[in-house]
Amino acid sequence: MIKKILFFTIILLSLTACNKKQEKLIDLVNYDSVWNHLESFDKIGKENNSNRAVGTPGGIASKNYIVEFLTNLGLSPVAHNFTNRSGAQGSNLTVEIKGKRDGDIVLIGAHYDSVVFGPGINDNASGVAILLEIIEVIQKAGIVPDKTLRFAFWDSEETGVEGSAAYYNALSEDERKQIAAYLNVDMVASTDGEIQISDTDGSTVQGVLDEAVKNGVEPESIDMLKAFYGAMKFAPGSEKLEQLTKDAFAQLNVEVVEDLTFAMNSDTGPFFAQIPTIGITVVKETTESTGDGGEILSFAPCYHQACDDINNIDKRILESCLKAVAIIVQQIGVGNSVSE
Ligand SMILES: [Zn+2]
Repeated sequence: MIKKILFFTIILLSLTACNKKQEKLIDLVNYDSVWNHLESFDKIGKENNSNRAVGTPGGIASKNYIVEFLTNLGLSPVAHNFTNRSGAQGSNLTVEIKGKRDGDIVLIGAHYDSVVFGPGINDNASGVAILLEIIEVIQKAGIVPDKTLRFAFWDSEETGVEGSAAYYNALSEDERKQIAAYLNVDMVASTDGEIQISDTDGSTVQGVLDEAVKNGVEPESIDMLKAFYGAMKFAPGSEKLEQLTKDAFAQLNVEVVEDLTFAMNSDTGPFFAQIPTIGITVVKETTESTGDGGEILSFAPCYHQACDDINNIDKRILESCLKAVAIIVQQIGVGNSVSE
């Protein structure tokens, strides 16, 4: 009888082990939780002069929301305070889920500040909400990742990428070397948008230049463009991240395009030349009337406007980005860890 019980116990144990092993982030993440975060940030905006900008009550309330959420998960977020160029008090937040190999870090970031003109729900509560959901599922499943996952919630991005730059500048050489990869998630729910990922090997530069020539741009300006893009060299290892990101979206049957121009315009900026980096953003270029007969180019519907609220979210695109980030974080940081 003992033998038989042992036999069954072994079968049961191996079945449980199998179940645990199949616990992938992509199966755990839940769109509804992401949506709930967006509603919370929308509410924060509504209660605070319709914005969540750096140093404002809405910005501080957003920070407090993130801190409270992470603390309730049993995590210990750390604030990194700085003063931005306009004298506003900024505060980046980082939080770590320790991996089996400490000192081997994957950094995943999204800015939580909005512009002063609107609540910034697409730009960039969307990225923040994805990070919070990824953190929650890892923490609740008790997953111990291969590498240490360091999540960053940047402040003062909208004033010129100041928060992530302050953070990067404060790191020592050794601390920078510990970061194996940086993944940036910014504005990932633009209605009818095109999912863009960083062009880390400059493969799109010639196309951009050809297009400029076709549009009658002066030769001197073409030379300047060429020099500008030529100087944008991503750190070695970025191409691997680019390929992995393409594969993640391909697995979801979602199309992406490569883009180089956005590397400087988001929190990828301080990192990409030094640390293997990849960024995800969603763009829908539109021209909008300025009211006085002129037109301005806008990167997304309601971009930097009061209408970037909860009604400005493309659910299908946001869900695709959530799943892609889950796949990427699994591959670059979590590995095939079994939960404990
Ligand atoms: Zn943004």
